[in-house]
Amino acid sequence: MSAIDSLPPLREVIATHDLRAKKSLGQNFLLDLNLTAKIARQAGDLSACDVLEIGPGPGGLTRGLLAEGARRVLAVEKDARCLPALAEIADAYPGRLEVINGDALEIDPLAHLTPPIRVAANLPYNVGTELLVRWLTPKQWPPFWQSLTLMFQKEVAQRIVAQPGSKAYGRLAILAQWRAETRIVMDLPPQAFTPAPKVHSAVVHLTALDQPKYNADAAVLSRVVAAAFNQRRKMLRASLKGMAPDIEDRLVAAGITPTQRAEEIPLEGFCALAREVAR
Ligand code: SAM
Repeated sequence: MSAIDSLPPLREVIATHDLRAKKSLGQNFLLDLNLTAKIARQAGDLSACDVLEIGPGPGGLTRGLLAEGARRVLAVEKDARCLPALAEIADAYPGRLEVINGDALEIDPLAHLTPPIRVAANLPYNVGTELLVRWLTPKQWPPFWQSLTLMFQKEVAQRIVAQPGSKAYGRLAILAQWRAETRIVMDLPPQAFTPAPKVHSAVVHLTALDQPKYNADAAVLSRVVAAAFNQRRKMLRASLKGMAPDIEDRLVAAGITPTQRAEEIPLEGFCALAREVAR
């Protein structure tokens, strides 16, 4: 295995700093630096971008991002035990790595980063979906990020890219695909991580679109989709009853048969329905 930088191998870093993985923090580390460099490459050309990384841990992906030429990396890590290892990386890449010891849910990245900004992370499973939903539902669009390159449990990755008619299709697919291009760019087996999780993982790449694919009010679309998939087995005329007294007429006006179920409706249909509900 060739070295991507002059720093010690990650197994050594973990032993030196006694970074035994904590389950409560979703710690499954990537120790193969060639693999982390490959993930970093999926994020695109980083040389003119600042990168937000959530949960750097011992810094495998951080090193990948820096070795691949990221202009600057802001790494937000909750576990203070990782800070000395991350400080060594900051020393090896002067002026290019800022580490914040804190909770990613509490940080305002724009206070630290200069656009264009890309996000790359092997996300802690316990906050991964919440962070993604926040990034997909900012007050204003386009968002602060140009792209998101994120490792998830494979099942979550499949929900992001899912198409109508599949079990994985739901709120996450619609939120993501309404305003971003989404694709799975890598699959990883449990053995790629230390310790190995029970499930397979996948990297999803999302590119923010300048404009949503179809016109709709974000809040209304979000309400319609939440109600529709909350009772996904019910016909839409029943699951959406609370949205408007004449919901059947509005469904028809949106080109939807009221006896259809949420799973069958493409993104375009939900956007048409959100426009009818907002009318
Ligand atoms: N990036 C490293 C890698 O690929 O080896 C570690 C990934 S591990 C799946 C997730 C990391 O997120 C851990 O280092 C954990 O301590 C950190 N973490 C967990 N919850 C966090 C939170 N709320 N904010 C910031 N970091 C968090």
